[in-house]
Amino acid sequence: MLKVGLLGYGGRMGRLIDEVILEDSRFILSSVYIRSGSSVDAPKGVCVTNDFSVFLEHCEVVVDFSSPIATSALLEALEKTPRPLVVGTTGLSPKDHSLMERLSQSIPIVYATNTSRGIALLNELAYLASQRLRDADIEIIEIHHHHKKDAPSGTAMTLAETCAQSRGLELDKVRVSGRDGAVGARGQDEIGVLSVRGGDIVGKHCVGLYCDGEYLELTHNATSRKTFAKGAIEAVRWVVTKQAGLYNMKDVLE
Ligand code: NAD
Repeated sequence: MLKVGLLGYGGRMGRLIDEVILEDSRFILSSVYIRSGSSVDAPKGVCVTNDFSVFLEHCEVVVDFSSPIATSALLEALEKTPRPLVVGTTGLSPKDHSLMERLSQSIPIVYATNTSRGIALLNELAYLASQRLRDADIEIIEIHHHHKKDAPSGTAMTLAETCAQSRGLELDKVRVSGRDGAVGARGQDEIGVLSVRGGDIVGKHCVGLYCDGEYLELTHNATSRKTFAKGAIEAVRWVVTKQAGLYNMKDVLE
């Protein structure tokens, strides 16, 4: 059985990942990292610790669905104690991304802002549609539950990056995340990324391609968070078989 270390155990995603691990005899939850001063009710035999080196020593692979601060600390700890890694946490800083790139020269890392199969496919479709409908205005709308802390969602940003890349654009130069007041006419290359928050919506992403006379909207709806947990464990199974490198969900599913 593959010994899995989990960062974010008590959270919405962490609880579901634990559930998926319990349902699959190929995996066992072996260690859980928690913030100092907090406590969790982990099953007997699981190492619960606020020390990253102890956490890493007790597992063969790490899965992280926590917060950018926790992910950042984990990445630093992995420099000393390398383990294959699956990161699902969103809202990471440019510094964390650079650290992840550097670490991926020595360990295999899957970084997936969304671990569902549908979103992996939506990314491919968005790439194709942005190229084929070259004159279309691209507007991405994401809707999530009111607990979500970061905006736009990591998934929306990945979709926007996909669209920008397919048109040879730099996302930083063309992204617009909200319009208010006398903003003027829409620029031709703009990629809008708009966030809505409310209720218990698990996650909805729509990539709209608006032309004169017609428009295409590609929409993904997540109806259960367990979809992400299952995808994350699929990525865990996959990443332990890989050489060092930085991978995404498309790599896992192919
Ligand atoms: P949550 O707030 O319910 O859970 C976060 C967990 O991380 C909690 O257990 C919290 O205690 C822990 N945590 C936070 N900071 C910590 C720290 N400094 N040290 C130790 N533990 C810490 O959030 P969630 O809904 O479970 O989402 C977690 C992350 O996963 C978010 O970034 C979210 O955007 C992302 N997410 C990704 C996907 C995907 O498919 N990749 C899907 C859903 C959510």
